[in-house]
Amino acid sequence: MDGCETMTAEAAIPRIAVLIVAAGSGSRVADGDPLPKQYRRLGPASVLQHSVAAFVRHPWIAEVVVAIHPDHLELYQAAVLPDPKLSPPVRGAATRQGSVLAGLEALAATGSAHVLIHDAARPFVSAAIIDRTIAALVGGSEAVLVGVPVVDTLKKADATGAVVDTVPRDGLWAAQTPQAFAFNAILADHRAAAAAGRADFTDDAGVAEWAGRTVEMVMGDASNRKLTTSTDIDAARVTLETAEWARLADIRVGTGYDVHSFEPGEFVTLCGVEIPHAARLNGHSDADVALHALTDAILGALGDGDIGQHFPPSDQRWRGAPSRIFLEDAMRRLAARGGRLAHCDVSIIAEAPKVGPHREAMRARIADYCGITIDRVGVKATTNEKLGFVGRREGIAAIATATIRLPL
Ligand code: MG
Repeated sequence: MDGCETMTAEAAIPRIAVLIVAAGSGSRVADGDPLPKQYRRLGPASVLQHSVAAFVRHPWIAEVVVAIHPDHLELYQAAVLPDPKLSPPVRGAATRQGSVLAGLEALAATGSAHVLIHDAARPFVSAAIIDRTIAALVGGSEAVLVGVPVVDTLKKADATGAVVDTVPRDGLWAAQTPQAFAFNAILADHRAAAAAGRADFTDDAGVAEWAGRTVEMVMGDASNRKLTTSTDIDAARVTLETAEWARLADIRVGTGYDVHSFEPGEFVTLCGVEIPHAARLNGHSDADVALHALTDAILGALGDGDIGQHFPPSDQRWRGAPSRIFLEDAMRRLAARGGRLAHCDVSIIAEAPKVGPHREAMRARIADYCGITIDRVGVKATTNEKLGFVGRREGIAAIATATIRLPL
């Protein structure tokens, strides 16, 4: 068999389970953050969720179970999205090897023919690696090890740091995960290792080797790296974020403009912030002229109508409504298209009240409503030099620009 592409009938694929090992306390991260590395955020999801997602979305995987530290149930529930393929987590043990055995025992009742065992701290495992691993299993291997050939020159040094030898790297591979096995074989090997008092294996292929099995190497890739230190996690965040922005290659700019007139009142609402004033703005919602302009800027970039079309002034539901709901609706439309708001900029044109003292609060509100960082939000204000309706203090105008990114 030359690959999984040749397997067409789903019925021909034996049941394949995945055990993700996430029971570590992450003590090697040692950066002062008590959160174990598998539960740290990496872009939109936890490290563990990235690993889980890679397997549950793979069409040939029937079931995924995660072995967790007994104290981490709440962390797990907060970090992992439910999925029909995902079984309840299994309580791990003090060693990685013990956690794997606990997970295999939990899977034993489900009748899987094969199992892939994966470290949670390798969130970038690709579909191609999973394909190759399964192809080797279905092709007849009872033990499969994903790895990459060693490319660095290897040195052996003594306790003083003096090099004593250069180790030939021919035939040397660095082991990754997943490591995959005939289910009954690896369960028997782990039980035998535990019974023999061997608790020092650092990977599952090592257990299978100890049991005398032939382990087949399958090509991994360099991006399937293990996140061990906080530097690894920071670098992974940058990798993910860079890839995400690069994917959103359709860059669009939209503009919005709005005006509301004054009427008697005690405050105006601008960018979600209430500012004491001798008048209020007249409108069917809270008349937040700045958020209306910004909402139209986003809708304009999407080519998706305008605020008046989605929220007609004739509709009594929006009477006195906070304008954040219009902005949040535009953000949902953007998210539904798979996009992100890269930047927005709002200019408020008014003789009074003074906006400057409220600028940072306004930026923070917009960042919060849009779910972006505050460095992507600009808020500016100017008077109209006493000219025109703004100059006569009859109302406030706002102009907004939004830059959105969509997938091509
Ligand atoms: Mg308006």
